Amino acid sequence: MRLLVTLLLCLTLPASALADGFISRLLHKPVPGGVAVLQLGDAASAPQVRYQNKPVLVVREDGKQWIAIVGIPLTVKPGTSEAQVDGRAVPFTVGSKQYREQRITLKNTQQVNPDAANLKRIERELAEQTRAYQQFSARQPSNLLFDKPVDGPLSSAFGLRRFFNGEERNPHSGLDFAVGAGTPIKAPAAGKVILIGDYFFNGKTVFVDHGQGLISMFCHMSKIDVQLGQELPRGGLVGRVGATGRATGPHMHWNVSLNDARVDPAIFIGAFKP
Ligand code: ZN
Repeated sequence: MRLLVTLLLCLTLPASALADGFISRLLHKPVPGGVAVLQLGDAASAPQVRYQNKPVLVVREDGKQWIAIVGIPLTVKPGTSEAQVDGRAVPFTVGSKQYREQRITLKNTQQVNPDAANLKRIERELAEQTRAYQQFSARQPSNLLFDKPVDGPLSSAFGLRRFFNGEERNPHSGLDFAVGAGTPIKAPAAGKVILIGDYFFNGKTVFVDHGQGLISMFCHMSKIDVQLGQELPRGGLVGRVGATGRATGPHMHWNVSLNDARVDPAIFIGAFKP
């Protein structure tokens, strides 16, 4: 049955949206929380692409085809979605994906139901982080197939529907690695440090802009080894794994954002599970 659904989804994809080259094939996971790669032809200059009124990453694949790499927010419903390419609508199909539930018990009930003062802090910190995700720099990402930021096994997957002390909260916006406190975190691609904070939920946090809205966030760190505005090479040291903020123990949490949509980081390291 699942195979049949997959086949039908493939058949209904418009030809222009079919992923072609190596990068396209690896990244094209058009589900909520995934990525759609759109083929845009071989015009002399880069097409301007927007999705949900936000600018989209456009690169040239194999020195020929322009491709748009569109982040699909978890909130998008399966069915037909639409990007704007030079002002013209280009439809693509968003498939469905079932995300599992995760139940977590926290001793600190403030981290489940914060009081008024903490809510104010959370709101301010959310706005600051959203502004970082919405930055769009002209730089080309050094690599779209990312290196793992730490050596270690994956633990909590992206998109898990989370219940803290039995109450549903936002789904898991990133990917966790089970590694010990103090493990070095390395930049999965070159980038610029655009935000550093010590946040209520995320703890010690660093945002790295890889270019054109492709942004990594690392949080719950024990130590930050970079400064605001610093340029990091691919593999450059960002900081150390910790358990600051809302964490039940040391682990590395990594968000990847495209056009202000948090997407599954596993896609970029070849570890995506449908
Ligand atoms: Zn996490």
